[in-house]
Amino acid sequence: MGHQTFITVEQLQKNFQEYIPPLKDKAAMDEANRCLYCYDAPCIKACPTGINIPSFIKKIASGNIKGSARVIMESNPVGASCARVCPTSELCEGACVLNDASSPIMIGQLQRYSTDWAIRNKVSLFGKGQSVGKTVAIIGGGPAGLSAARELARFGFDVTIYEARPQAGGLNTYGIVSFRLPQDISLWEAEQVKALGVKILTNVTVGRDITAEEILADYDFVVLAVGLGNVPQLGIEGEELEGVYDAIQLVKDTKTKPLSTLNVGKRVVVVGAGNTAIDAATCSKRLGAKHVTMLYRRTEQEMTAYDFEYEFAKQEGVEFRWLSAPTRIIGDENGKVKALEIVRMKLGEPDASGRPRPVKIEGSECTIEVDSIIKAIGQSKLLSVIEAFGLAHQNGIVEVNEKNQTSNPKVFAAGDCIFGLGNAEAMVVDAAQQGKKAAYGIHSVLLPNKNASMV
Ligand SMILES: Cc1cc2nc3c(=O)[nH]c(=O)nc-3n(C[C@H](O)[C@H](O)[C@H](O)COP(=O)(O)OP(=O)(O)OC[C@H]3O[C@@H](n4cnc5c(N)ncnc54)[C@H](O)[C@@H]3O)c2cc1C
Ligand code: SF4
Repeated sequence: MGHQTFITVEQLQKNFQEYIPPLKDKAAMDEANRCLYCYDAPCIKACPTGINIPSFIKKIASGNIKGSARVIMESNPVGASCARVCPTSELCEGACVLNDASSPIMIGQLQRYSTDWAIRNKVSLFGKGQSVGKTVAIIGGGPAGLSAARELARFGFDVTIYEARPQAGGLNTYGIVSFRLPQDISLWEAEQVKALGVKILTNVTVGRDITAEEILADYDFVVLAVGLGNVPQLGIEGEELEGVYDAIQLVKDTKTKPLSTLNVGKRVVVVGAGNTAIDAATCSKRLGAKHVTMLYRRTEQEMTAYDFEYEFAKQEGVEFRWLSAPTRIIGDENGKVKALEIVRMKLGEPDASGRPRPVKIEGSECTIEVDSIIKAIGQSKLLSVIEAFGLAHQNGIVEVNEKNQTSNPKVFAAGDCIFGLGNAEAMVVDAAQQGKKAAYGIHSVLLPNKNASMV
């Protein structure tokens, strides 16, 4: 990617700073005092990690912010990131009884208020448990891996995380745009885990730098928490051209490279309509693109992005082209993308996903001029590492039982790599809960008579 020519470095930096301002003390206190502290609070049930929301809000109201942060992080080891990225209107805030009366309590913002306090004050919230004399290797230091590590360390396991990237945090550190989730937040969560004596070995790819056999031989238990891979190929002509990007790689670049070195040009087409696509589209806008169009082969009704993400993209000026699919990428004489051929689609009978199958309308091809094309049609499965551990899987999704145990009894799995079997959603908060479940699973295998939640 070349240099930006139409946006200043200062503007770029501003564009990638967190865009939702934090609550000030007075506003947080007022909001906390609005909470009805419901008995049998529906918000707790609606949070996949079961945070005791009325309790943490009450602690804000009484001025015990450290206690509040502790309640949050106790249930959710990545609760600072979740405060920013959870689709709260679908989860805790959606369940708030005040939805019927006025507006729901701003649970995400209050959660951010307390965890930001803990980050600013550099507090360590938990201590490690008494040693149980057993070792666990966790493959992947994303939300699922960190969550499992935190719980296991508190149970007294000797935990080592193997992380392929230079820093822990997974997609929270590298995959969710910094104007929604700055890196400092997820890195603090990783530090909280490290403070419990967990070793985080970064820049180590299991399957390349160390084999699955070595891991299986060296540890009593393993947690596979590798997430998913990059965006799959579109499978059309011209994908190798300069100016065709992988959405996850693009977002990663905005979080790790100087923004002034990134240039997607003025006219961008993003292929896909999930949360990766929204992040790629809004990133492109904030990198200075004038026209960003999301191309989706179905309609608004079938898109997988949440409503609030869709609204955000519209506010950012992103345009949508429904019932359209790419058929060919056209390059110029220098091997750089210059246009995209697309075809109109219509909806047919439901497919395996239950959604109407998009069907090509023959002869409806047309061409649009573009500077960049960003592929955002989901994430590929990490088959090689799953197979290296010899685990049963369905199309690259690891099979687990109710304890998150895989077909190898000493290997447990959590997070996006088990998503799709009805055990998890592709959300940070679910990955956190899955990580906890894997830790409780290991604990229950080791100490079958002891209830994990009572330890
Ligand atoms: C662009 C984008 C935007 C998103 N936005 C949201 C959002 O707003 N809200 C929300 O709730 N969710 C969002 N998600 C989904 C969310 O990020 C994931 O569900 C969550 O990160 C899954 O956590 P995980 O720990 O399973 O996997 P990951 O976060 O992917 O972490 C897996 C880790 O394993 C490491 N790893 C992989 N293979 C190996 C190996 N062989 N050896 C060692 N380490 C390895 C990886 O480097 C990575 O750090 C978004 C996802 C994307 C891609
Ligand atoms: S973790 Fe997410 S769902 Fe749970 S209370 Fe916090 S913001 Fe709501």
